Amino acid sequence: MKVYKFGGASVKDADSVKNVAILLEKVGCEDTFMVVSAMGKTTNALEEVVQLYFDEQDYEKKIHEIEAFHLEIVKELFDDQTKINQELKIFFSDIVSFLRRNKSPNYSYVYDQVVCNGELASTRIISAYLNQTGIANTWLDVRDYLKTDNNYREGKVNWDETEKNFRTIESGKLYVTQGFLGSDENHFTTTLGREGSDYTAAIIAYCLDAQSMTIWKDVPGVLNADPRYFSDPVLLNHISYEEAIELAYYGASVIHPKTMQPLQNKEIPFFVKSFINPTDSGTAIKKGAPLEPKISCFILKKDQHLVRFSSKDFSFITEDKLSGIFNQLYDAKIKVNLMQNSAISLSLCVEDKYGNLKELLNKLDKMYNIQHDEQVNLYTIRHFDEHSEKVLPLERELLRQTLKETLQIVTKA
Ligand code: ADP
Ligand code: ASP
Ligand code: MG
Repeated sequence: MKVYKFGGASVKDADSVKNVAILLEKVGCEDTFMVVSAMGKTTNALEEVVQLYFDEQDYEKKIHEIEAFHLEIVKELFDDQTKINQELKIFFSDIVSFLRRNKSPNYSYVYDQVVCNGELASTRIISAYLNQTGIANTWLDVRDYLKTDNNYREGKVNWDETEKNFRTIESGKLYVTQGFLGSDENHFTTTLGREGSDYTAAIIAYCLDAQSMTIWKDVPGVLNADPRYFSDPVLLNHISYEEAIELAYYGASVIHPKTMQPLQNKEIPFFVKSFINPTDSGTAIKKGAPLEPKISCFILKKDQHLVRFSSKDFSFITEDKLSGIFNQLYDAKIKVNLMQNSAISLSLCVEDKYGNLKELLNKLDKMYNIQHDEQVNLYTIRHFDEHSEKVLPLERELLRQTLKETLQIVTKA
């Protein structure tokens, strides 16, 4: 089987959904598993619902807005909207009744039970639309197949169970299912982390021993730089799994960092292609493929924090102190993107996704002198040469680190 993944941008409105059908006609979709994200920015909107709920504000209005957004798309897609409208109304009123009934104070649990509806709604619409246009397909609830632990918002895959479940899939057909979602052993919904649909596609490709996986994007493939921040990016025709892992790890957000591992394990060829020009070759990612063309690649991670710890009494920052700091960072779910240490200081460039850094620094303040720069940029240049740095904007440099192939610079705009 082939696995295709369609992200939020590829299904953001009625025209985009129509384009998916045209794309499938062009490139073929027999014996295919389609993984689809929530439409456009729906996940962000559902995140707001959860926040409003916990802030005890009017979350129902926001739910109605999200419902209206979907119904508007449906209006443009279907000759007869009765059935799909009814289904969507049930989805959205289920969110309201879930929240009204809910007693759990667990933010992450509530988050997963609410946010999953973006993918459930989008796949219902797309599956029904494809059937209407003559592209016969079967809708699957991925939560019946993809099993995780109960680490809500960052579910860890139970590979044995998941593989066993996917082995029951009959080949030869077209399936439409949700990215990003799974379920725990009590069948509560879990999610795999923001932008996790690429990862879902890779998990399914692994479990099905797929012949290939393609993710359809609003860019021609993997470029040597993010077009939002760098001008004239160049398409990478092919790269190795290792290169793709490095790029994603350093923050090339075109591929979710967890995506490569399942694919690499079974050497499943992986393509990143444009949903606007689907017959173009895009980027091929496979075993041992050299980076072609061989050029520097630029990655920008914004909204980072640079934190410098130094000992108060001039004592060394030894292994026990380092492990103390790292354990606390781990517990606070703060991700370290760069580290540099000297005898009496440790500098870390970190990402504070869950807003826990301030509290942690207050705790560590008793032991260390702490210098904290917020809102810094982390630039990574893979395969740098003497010219590559000139591409970066002129910003105040706070720290730099050079590895064999990789140069990283932390700056403040
Ligand atoms: P999806 O619709 O699948 O969620 P994303 O928005 O997550 O797609 O990924 C596509 C976006 O990734 C592009 O629009 C682009 O801005 C960004 N991007 C970041 N780095 C790169 C890169 N190196 N090459 C191509 N796109 C990149
Ligand atoms: N819809 C989810 C998100 O926006 C998952 C994904 O699109 O990959 O994060
Ligand atoms: Mg995305």
